[in-house]
Amino acid sequence: MAQRKTQIVVVGGGAGGLELVRRLGAKYGRRHHDIILVERNRTHIWKPLLHEVAAGSLDANLDEVGYRSHCYRWGYRFFNGALESVDRAARHVILAPLRDEDGSELIGRHPIRYDYLVLAVGSVTNDFATPGVAEYCMFLDDRAGADRFRNRLLDHCLRVSRAMSVDAAADAHVRVAIVGGGATGVELAAELYNAAAALSHYGLEVFDESRLAITLVEAGQRILPALPERLADAAKAELEALGVSVLTGVQVTEAQPHALLTAGGGRIEADLLVWAAGVKAPGGLAELGLETNRTGQLVVRETLQTTRDERIFAIGDCCSFTPPGGERPVPPRAQAAHQMAACVFRNLVRLQQGRALRPFVYRDHGSLVSLSRYSTVGSLMGSLIGGRMAIEGRLARLVYTSLYRMHLIAIHGWVKGVALLAVGRVNRIIRPRLKLH
Ligand SMILES: Cc1cc2nc3c(=O)[nH]c(=O)nc-3n(C[C@H](O)[C@H](O)[C@H](O)COP(=O)(O)OP(=O)(O)OC[C@H]3O[C@@H](n4cnc5c(N)ncnc54)[C@H](O)[C@@H]3O)c2cc1C
Repeated sequence: MAQRKTQIVVVGGGAGGLELVRRLGAKYGRRHHDIILVERNRTHIWKPLLHEVAAGSLDANLDEVGYRSHCYRWGYRFFNGALESVDRAARHVILAPLRDEDGSELIGRHPIRYDYLVLAVGSVTNDFATPGVAEYCMFLDDRAGADRFRNRLLDHCLRVSRAMSVDAAADAHVRVAIVGGGATGVELAAELYNAAAALSHYGLEVFDESRLAITLVEAGQRILPALPERLADAAKAELEALGVSVLTGVQVTEAQPHALLTAGGGRIEADLLVWAAGVKAPGGLAELGLETNRTGQLVVRETLQTTRDERIFAIGDCCSFTPPGGERPVPPRAQAAHQMAACVFRNLVRLQQGRALRPFVYRDHGSLVSLSRYSTVGSLMGSLIGGRMAIEGRLARLVYTSLYRMHLIAIHGWVKGVALLAVGRVNRIIRPRLKLH
């Protein structure tokens, strides 16, 4: 009788999961193993690019990776569908019915067997149950959210441009309120100015960045709490020079159709409301019977196995790992997802070899925040530079862009990764600077 293949199922093909299946597929192929990626989308776009997709300065169609062609190249199998539940006793993941755009069922609910399961389903924006946020704010959680924001932004730019064509003295603005002064909010605010500045080249002749009115609202006493204060101040000064109104120490208590209400009775009117104030685990993880923390993330041991089930690993934003002796969990970042994917890959290989698993050691290489073409700020960490070093400007920009380059190489290998980078450079010369549809 044919021996049953070892089945490793990875759920979520994002920054961590896609890299992991690529490595597992390349290592094992399909002879004695089935490496399976379960992902609800058909294409992957690296999440840290979403603010550029939202502003229109990046065309996601050019940068996305199709899972079907990727799995064919790297020897894993791709199942398009969303994880609904896990039957841990039977060792099955259950996929929700797959429906077409009209809601008709294409594939019914079905199980997939696993010997080892890796959950890499990322995170979603945390609205902290603030009234009205789910209804009236937009989120940059995925490509669909970024596309929705861009389309609405372009509609409003058109409205303002039209108003000014009719009356050059019109006081017409596109008002955008962004809640959350972390990296996502700050990067989006700067990117919007970059995009608005380019719109005049593409038919909206009377529109420019002075027609944007952006308010960035942060509940804490300063923006970018993950960065040293000096750099956060530099970023704030840069944003204000662009025209962003940066409000710190202001807590949003409610969202309404075109306004945010703040503690103390304030009201911020806006055409577009974006909520980017923290993350939590996607719904459903708490129902798996595994240990979760208060934001729903799966608590993992040093080996990145979940605490209650050693056949189930969790990586990236959906897991919570606090290093021994550490006070805080590893932050939800692409670099953490990347390092966790590498650790789980090694541990899955060791499991097949009957060897002891190795602990995950997080190496914080620092964090960088891009203020679009205007500036980049951040801090690098490492033994080579003797601890933490603040960086700004061109060097910071170079390191920031190299993160995406490393991701491309991690999911495509060196040859294709470098080729794609070259194509990206050519595209920047020959394609429009903005995605306008
Ligand atoms: C605008 C923005 C800018 C950012 N900038 C940076 C930055 O500069 N540097 C940095 O380090 N980090 C940055 N981050 C954070 C970074 O993107 C995340 O930490 C990283 O993507 C986490 O990787 P992951 O693999 O855990 O999850 P993700 O990359 O989010 O991937 C999760 C995948 O799981 C899939 N999925 C979810 N639920 C299901 C389900 N039920 N069934 C099937 N599939 C499912 C999703 O479709 C997705 O493909 C940024 C995030 C945003 C939103």
